[in-house]
Amino acid sequence: MDSQYNPNNIFAKILRGEMPCIKVYEDDDTIAFMDIMPQADGHTLVVPKEAAVNLFDLSEQGAEAAIRATQRVARAVRAAFSPDGISIGQFNGAAAGQTVPHVHFHIVPRYNDHALRGHAREMQDPDLLKGHAERIIAALREQAA
Ligand code: 5GP
Repeated sequence: MDSQYNPNNIFAKILRGEMPCIKVYEDDDTIAFMDIMPQADGHTLVVPKEAAVNLFDLSEQGAEAAIRATQRVARAVRAAFSPDGISIGQFNGAAAGQTVPHVHFHIVPRYNDHALRGHAREMQDPDLLKGHAERIIAALREQAA
C-alpha cells in the first residue's frame, strides 16, 4: 500500500482551493463536500486536511477529527434525505477500491428499494449536487441551533 503522498492529487488541489468543490462543511481539521460521481443522492465525502494517503498515515488527532466531522455531517445527511440506512466507507489502497490517494470518508445514503450506482462511475449534474448540498447545509444549521 503506497504511503507516498502526492500533493497533486485532486483532493489536495480542492483543499488548497485550486479546484472547486460543492462544500457542505468545514472546520479546522476537515472539509466535507459532495461526491462528484455519487453512488446515491446525498453521497458526501469528509476529507481530513492533513496530507495523508490513507487511514494508516493519519495522525490520531486527524482520525478523531475526521470521525467527529463524519458523524456530524452524516446526521445532517440523514435529516436531509431520510434514507433507510447510511453506509460510512473508507478505502485504503487501490486493491480496496481507493481511487483518490488522500484519506477520506464516504457518507452514502441507502434505500431499501434502490441499488447503489457504480463507484466513481458517472458524473452528476452540478446543479443537482448544489441542491443536495443546500439540503445538507440547512440540516447542519438546524443541528447547530
Ligand atoms: P475512493 O475511490 O478513493 O474511495 O473515492 C474517491 C471518490 O471521490 C469517488 O467516490 C469519486 O466519485 C470522488 N471524486 C473523484 N474526483 C472527484 C472530484 O474532483 N471532486 C469530487 N467532489 N469528488 C471526486
